[in-house]
Amino acid sequence: MNELAALEAALVDCRRCPRLVAWREEVARVKRAAFRDETYWGRPVPGFGPADARLLIVGLAPAAHGANRTGRMFTGDRSGDVLYAALHAVGLASQPTSTHIGDGLELFGTRITAPVHCAPPDNKPTPTERITCGTWLDREFDVLTEVRSVVVLGAFGWNALLAVLSRSGWSVLKPRPAFGHGARLALTKSGREIELFGCYHVSQQNTFTGRLTPAMLESVLVNAAQAAALESGATH
Ligand code: SF4
Repeated sequence: MNELAALEAALVDCRRCPRLVAWREEVARVKRAAFRDETYWGRPVPGFGPADARLLIVGLAPAAHGANRTGRMFTGDRSGDVLYAALHAVGLASQPTSTHIGDGLELFGTRITAPVHCAPPDNKPTPTERITCGTWLDREFDVLTEVRSVVVLGAFGWNALLAVLSRSGWSVLKPRPAFGHGARLALTKSGREIELFGCYHVSQQNTFTGRLTPAMLESVLVNAAQAAALESGATH
């Protein structure tokens, strides 16, 4: 088993956050009516994408009836519909849809993860839960040695990621820069460099209102892919 597979195998058995363990399992037991015939994943959701990814996409946490149901990041919900359509449009995904593990979807040079791996009530992990789960993201960063660009979806993810990176020795500008769509921030650690790209979250709250359009999302992905020296089928 390679290092990333070993990390993922350990992650999916994690039960460090009692509140989140109870919630993810309760949601998986009660289910949403539309999915009552499905078996929910109901466990920590590992990152999705190859170990040699140069571009990392960081959200916040799995959705209760999306990734907590399907077991794959941003899979099976409206946010994921928007994200994967954009990834496909710029040549970073093999198909525009992501419905379930085994649907044939592949990411090219790109991986999606989160600073919190279990679905939280109201999509709001506590500060303690973010710190606890941040150790997994820290380890994932160490294993993903090829990552050069990180697209961060939303202010919660931005702050959570910066806290993780700061704790693990990455040099972060002080005062910590505020999240913004289009914000860019370079970080270094032991001679390694990465660049963060801020992007509004792909939640319905943003995409239904037009705050985040497909063109805006694709533009950030293209910029991040170019910074990571990653080929994309960019149209922007
Ligand atoms: S949120 Fe993270 S640390 Fe907490 S139980 Fe889930 S995987 Fe473990």
